Amino acid sequence: MATICLKSATGFGHIDAMNVLSLNPGSSSLKFALHSIQKPGADQCLLRGTLERLGTSEATLRIDDSPGVHTSKSVGAVKLTQAVRHAVESCQEHSRIEAIGCRVVHGGPNFSGPVLVDDAVLDEIKALSPLAPLHNARDVETIDSARKCLGDIPVVAVFDTAFHHALPAVAANYALPRELVELHSLRRYGFHGISYRYVAEHLRSIEGMKVDKLVACHLGNGASACAILNGVSIDTSMGMTPLEGLVMGTRCGDIDAGLILYLEREQHIHMRELDKMLNSESGLAGMSGLTGDVRELEKAEAEGNPFAKLALDVFAYRIAKYIGAYAVALEGLDAIAFTGGIGENSTLMRERICHRLAFLGVHLKTSDASSKPTESVARIDDGSQVSVWVVKADEERQIAKEAVDLLT
Ligand code: ADP
Repeated sequence: MATICLKSATGFGHIDAMNVLSLNPGSSSLKFALHSIQKPGADQCLLRGTLERLGTSEATLRIDDSPGVHTSKSVGAVKLTQAVRHAVESCQEHSRIEAIGCRVVHGGPNFSGPVLVDDAVLDEIKALSPLAPLHNARDVETIDSARKCLGDIPVVAVFDTAFHHALPAVAANYALPRELVELHSLRRYGFHGISYRYVAEHLRSIEGMKVDKLVACHLGNGASACAILNGVSIDTSMGMTPLEGLVMGTRCGDIDAGLILYLEREQHIHMRELDKMLNSESGLAGMSGLTGDVRELEKAEAEGNPFAKLALDVFAYRIAKYIGAYAVALEGLDAIAFTGGIGENSTLMRERICHRLAFLGVHLKTSDASSKPTESVARIDDGSQVSVWVVKADEERQIAKEAVDLLT
């Protein structure tokens, strides 16, 4: 077993492996995992769990003991701070926690990689909250709570924006006045970077596969696409905030900025209401008038609901359009990867997207053959010129790995 030499600042000295608790807070959930990370590259998931329905009276703690086997228990009315304590206690029952990695959504202009958290770093992350109001405040609360629970253990913040930090100028810039851009650090930051780095590294580790020009699509409640050249992000669909780009569960994605101006100026709809409308009432939920949940929409479509069909069609069309655009950005296309709840599970959605891309050399296996990939990565094309992959998202593993990389 390789020996890890931790920097003296972390006070750990030489050890063989390190147990890292990864914390991944969502809008009403907290995913967590305990990994034993060993160098070089070997790692083992010791425990994985989720606290769901936080902020309601019926929060639940789900522990995944092994793939396909889980236990759930009700934990009552639990908010994020108590959820972190539950996560810590569940892991401590299993093994010692030696470091913490926490996902932070917005790293702003300064955080280009993982960083060891101290009070100054936490203040800087707090100061970025206006850029991602729904996310960064919860990330800070998570880190704060974890530090309170675990005292002196090193905490590493791993940023969703970091993977896109070096976007080429043509992809990062908005066509806005230069002074304003510089004054307010206005640029396209991009998100889902932890997931994209995991997908890219995973696919690039498969021997003999050509994935130099890769488009990855993270399709969950939030959704985005990313053009990845030789493992590096060169364009991505989310921008300054996670609102730009693809149609999402409740977010509109790309929209004419003039439409917002019109609603504010002519219809006197206040900015706060517009914010709520664009972030929480649009996307698949807004278009269908039903829900932002793709599984539910697929059922409604099968029952003949035309608005469910329209919402799914627009969702798929926009993704296919971005993949086409990114084939231009990459000057070619070797592979497409789908990840996230929709990307991993919806055969129908993958087919809907890929049938538009046949002219680029994208052909899927028949749906039966590609419907339920059980491995962490599965190839689902029929041997076509462009390979197509389903990769099971594992942001927690990537967070743990990046935390250990920083600490060693
Ligand atoms: P989040 O971004 O909140 O982590 P997920 O990655 O869990 O979200 O993705 C949630 C989405 O995945 C929902 O739209 C859900 O309907 C969809 N989804 C999950 N399983 C399936 C399935 N079997 N078929 C179609 N859609 C699915």
